Amino acid sequence: LRLDMLSSEELGHMRRVVSRLEAANRDSLTGLLDRKFIEDGLERLVEKCDRAEVPISCAFVDLDKFKEINDGFSHKVGDEVLRGVSRLLMLGVRENDPAVRYGGDEIVFFLPGSASTRAAEIAERIRRAVAGHDWDRTAIGLRVSCSFGVAEREPGESIKSWMDRADQAAYVSKEGGRNRVTVDTKK
Ligand code: GH3
Ligand code: MG
Repeated sequence: LRLDMLSSEELGHMRRVVSRLEAANRDSLTGLLDRKFIEDGLERLVEKCDRAEVPISCAFVDLDKFKEINDGFSHKVGDEVLRGVSRLLMLGVRENDPAVRYGGDEIVFFLPGSASTRAAEIAERIRRAVAGHDWDRTAIGLRVSCSFGVAEREPGESIKSWMDRADQAAYVSKEGGRNRVTVDTKK
């Protein structure tokens, strides 16, 4: 495809197509990747790490008592919280670390090159950033925290098994009192 052969009208059209494709990959509320990344891009990322012989970790993030925030403040404040947490998360990882809106108040991010110890440090830093953020600026009296579950992929492990372990670790964080990071101990 020769870009210099295209008219400005055709170029404009192409730019619009590209930006629509990019937007289609993003959750409109948070700007995070949408779940399609798990099917479309994750396998490739894992293969890349395997080839480079570097570890990869994933971390589940679930907002604590988010229903209470919606009910006690408003759905609009809830949306602001989701946006704010997503922004703090994106600030806490590298640009190439994919962060995905997995469900309503559930986010999962991937850390190529990080073993579980490093991944736990990154999750802990984000946990602290969220819990320590000045949420009063969003709504007076608002407090926000998240529970994290971290797992490093084992050699040859399926994506499903690996992500399930991280999800389970997040569940342990919830059970343990929320606002904490749990690292999955290996199989
Ligand atoms: P836990 O600490 O156990 O995670 O409690 P929780 O209240 O966060 O968990 P629960 O799964 O009961 O509630 C999640 C809530 O997230 C329920 C749903 O209404 C809300 N939610 C999901 N998507 C959105 C959204 O896009 N915007 C807003 N404002 N709320 C959302
Ligand atoms: Mg929740």
